[in-house]
Amino acid sequence: MAEEKIICIGCPLGCETTLKIDDQGEVVKITGYKCKEGRQYVLEEYRSPVRVLTATVLTQNSVRPLFPVRTNKPLLKTHLKEAAKVLIGVKVKPPIRVGQIILPNLINTGIDVIATDDLLN
Ligand code: SF4
Repeated sequence: MAEEKIICIGCPLGCETTLKIDDQGEVVKITGYKCKEGRQYVLEEYRSPVRVLTATVLTQNSVRPLFPVRTNKPLLKTHLKEAAKVLIGVKVKPPIRVGQIILPNLINTGIDVIATDDLLN
C-alpha cells in the first residue's frame, strides 16, 4: 500500500493529509483533514488535479507590450503545458475590457481565456 501526502489549500489552516492508496491506485483511507470540503479537495487533487492558468500575452498597437489573462475555470494540470504554448501565439489589440473573452474554448476544453485588466490604449 502506497501513501501520498497532500496539503489542503481549502483554507488558511493548510491541513496536511495522508492518502493510503492500494495497488490499483484507489484511495482507501484519508487522514489529517478537518472538514468534509477538505476531504473532497484532496481526493480531487489526487484523482484529477486542476489549476487556473494565469499568463501574459503579447499586444499589438498598444503602449503596453504584455497583457495579463487567465482561464475562467481551472484546467487539468496535464493540459497546462499545451495551453500555455497556445497562449505564446496570441496577440491582443485595444480596446479590451476586464473579463472579456480573449480566446474561447482553449485547446477544446470548453474553458475560455479572459482578460484580467482593461487594455484601452
Ligand atoms: S481540511 Fe478543511 S480545515 Fe483543513 S485546510 Fe482543508 S478546508 Fe481548511
